Amino acid sequence: MYDVIIIGGGPAGLTAAIYTCRKQLKTLVISMNYGGQTMMASHMENYPGYEGSGLKLMEHFQKQAKDFGAKLIDGKVVTVDDNNGVFTVKLSEGDVFKGKSVILAFGKVPRSIGISGEDKFLGKGVHVCATCDAPMYQDKEVLVVGGGNSALHAVQLLSGIASKVYLMHRRDEFRGDELLVKKIKKKKNVEFLLSHLPKEIKGDTFVNSIVVLDRKTQKTKEIKVEGVFLEIGYEVKADLVKHLVDLNDKMEVKINSVGETSHRGVFAAGDVTTTRYKQTVIAAGEGAKAGLSAYSYVKQTEVDTDIS
Ligand code: NAP
Repeated sequence: MYDVIIIGGGPAGLTAAIYTCRKQLKTLVISMNYGGQTMMASHMENYPGYEGSGLKLMEHFQKQAKDFGAKLIDGKVVTVDDNNGVFTVKLSEGDVFKGKSVILAFGKVPRSIGISGEDKFLGKGVHVCATCDAPMYQDKEVLVVGGGNSALHAVQLLSGIASKVYLMHRRDEFRGDELLVKKIKKKKNVEFLLSHLPKEIKGDTFVNSIVVLDRKTQKTKEIKVEGVFLEIGYEVKADLVKHLVDLNDKMEVKINSVGETSHRGVFAAGDVTTTRYKQTVIAAGEGAKAGLSAYSYVKQTEVDTDIS
């Protein structure tokens, strides 16, 4: 029986673990991807007191949580249930863990477009992180989908590596920063495909083309590219706990100012929550709050049990 089971090993979950371990709570962290999205940041300048790669920062988080005694395991959680105050967390492999409290910190997942070839070629020409995978496309032709800052940053990075970069966006106006758009417009090897939608990604073992639709003419065309970068943002997928805690219409977990959810003994922190600003420093701060709230809850339930 753990005092606290933390689902998610990004900045929120690992910070929560540091706090619960320092309070001597028996802590289990379960994650599919330690470090979370922060790992993808090649250079961070907005985490106070630190400047460097997201990967290095998250290695420090992980080491610190382990050093204070947290048990970290890899796994995909499939169910979380409350059986009269004892939480049961089941993994896809069948393992079951029990805890007195649970902290939800499983962040967001890359949004998917839902076109043919997207899943089949993931990692084989389809990518969701330009910072991680751009170096594979030296002197090759690639296409970036999206109109936000992620897509614009991806194009900026890829334009220095690939021979040609298409930037495809479903509207004429960009959501990302105008300054970045201006910079990209000056690049000779970048071609804009505005008001275009991706329709199908084709290939054999690896991607060799993408079919796109011009929304204005309603004509489709096939573009030869070896890499397709989907940079269309992230979404929260909290279906796993919708029977347990209140969610908003974006499927984010509702929390109060101390990380409590609508369900006693269940806490949440970071990008999975309704917090508006999805930032590493905010996730870490919320993780600390959720950890401290879980500690208060566990201690209070122990007192209640002793009295009864
Ligand atoms: P985002 O701002 O939500 O942009 C997602 C883009 O993808 C939008 O342009 C959207 O089109 C498009 N899109 C969404 N679903 C699509 C679909 N099914 N098919 C085609 N296109 C689709 O996401 P983001 O760019 O990942 O940025 C997330 C947050 O992180 C933002 O606040 C951003 O500013 C921030 N960020 C900051 C930096 C930085 O260094 N400052 C870098 C990266 C990200 P519409 O515009 O038509 O909705």
